[in-house]
Amino acid sequence: MKLLDWYFKSNLLARILAGLILGAVCGLAFGPAMAWATPLGEIFIRLLKMIVMPVILFTLTVGAASVHPSQLGRVGVKALLIYMVTTGFAVSFGLIFGNLFQPGQGMEIAAGAAEGVKKGVTAPSLVDTLINVVPVNPYGAIAEGNVLPVIFFCLLFGIGLAYVRNSEDETISRSGETVFRFFNGGAEIMYLVVNWILQYAPIGVFALIADVFGKQGAEAFGPLGWTTLAVYMAFIGHMLLVYGGLLLVFKLPPLAFFNKAKEAIVTAFVTRSSGGTLPVSMETAGHKMGISQGVYSFSLPLGATINMDGTAIYQGVCAIFVGFAIGAPLTFAQQLTIIATSLLASIGTAGVPGAGAIMLMMVLESVGLKVEPGSPVAMAYAMIFGIDALLDMGRTACNVTGDLAVTCVVARTENEMDLAAWQGDELAAAQDTAYAE
Ligand code: ASP
Repeated sequence: MKLLDWYFKSNLLARILAGLILGAVCGLAFGPAMAWATPLGEIFIRLLKMIVMPVILFTLTVGAASVHPSQLGRVGVKALLIYMVTTGFAVSFGLIFGNLFQPGQGMEIAAGAAEGVKKGVTAPSLVDTLINVVPVNPYGAIAEGNVLPVIFFCLLFGIGLAYVRNSEDETISRSGETVFRFFNGGAEIMYLVVNWILQYAPIGVFALIADVFGKQGAEAFGPLGWTTLAVYMAFIGHMLLVYGGLLLVFKLPPLAFFNKAKEAIVTAFVTRSSGGTLPVSMETAGHKMGISQGVYSFSLPLGATINMDGTAIYQGVCAIFVGFAIGAPLTFAQQLTIIATSLLASIGTAGVPGAGAIMLMMVLESVGLKVEPGSPVAMAYAMIFGIDALLDMGRTACNVTGDLAVTCVVARTENEMDLAAWQGDELAAAQDTAYAE
């Protein structure tokens, strides 16, 4: 009983970080013997996935119904534009760090390394991605967990609800109000459940990290260590310079931002899924950053699906790695092509674990580096693929940080942010405990 008491009363983030460190140490020390912990990590991922669709459904409907349709359009265009610009910076960052570190330089690719390359995995085309935004069956999209079609449907439903609520006919407006309250109540309930799930996070985090480090930890310190270092330095540089700079320009303190975003960042890091982290990032935006639902309920799910700065950075560095590893360093023209294709590929990358590694094939092919079984390119690719979980953790953390930073900027410029939430962190702490009880 005492243990339980201690568990629930101690600081949540400290517990999560303890789980993270303990997981890494156990994973490195015991290796694959840590497999017993895998189900505990699975449960954490399943809990988050369980809640993603209901969270989007309730909050996006309420969000879209609370703002004027014209403002919603402006928020959408603004979010899209800033997402694109930051991703452009991200690929360039990746290429700069790749050129500085030159990972793969002078490497001899071991024969047989290509065995792990998946055959027949093709990336969806951009046109297909666009068409699929319109669901044939919204219930089907919800059931399958397809975020973009669900966003599309909820937006229509929410905008419809806004009109019905404001109808001149009293009977109609009252029915609209009832539906609105139902969805609003649903959204609040979901946030409560998210907080409960977070109480389990330390255990889930321990298990997930032990699993990854148990299987691949040692490899990252070997020949691929340089690539891992380059990728992570670029992630950190991008997060501090681009997001930090962006926040400063819009008069938001970067330190406070990272402080508020830490749970979402850690969740992204361990789940390796932007989509899976959505419940936590939405809760962060709403309750800790004081962003109005009309903005975050739309811009965060959108970001989780199309804004992948970490993925773009990773693709830049890895393309350079492959070039060096096969003894054909990328030319300047090839690197320009990489900027364009990485931008598109990161948009098309789903917010699920490992998606970026599959899209990397498309990026490589755009500069003539075909991943064909047995070829040197495939071998170099396979090496990176081998430590993908480790790289995926960082890129997902970067992706989610980007979604939150851009959402802050959009909310700030639209006057949709309660600045009281940014005055001292006591307030955030108070909100934490209010929910934890
Ligand atoms: N796992 C990443 C995410 O969910 C996507 C990727 O694999 O790059 O954001």
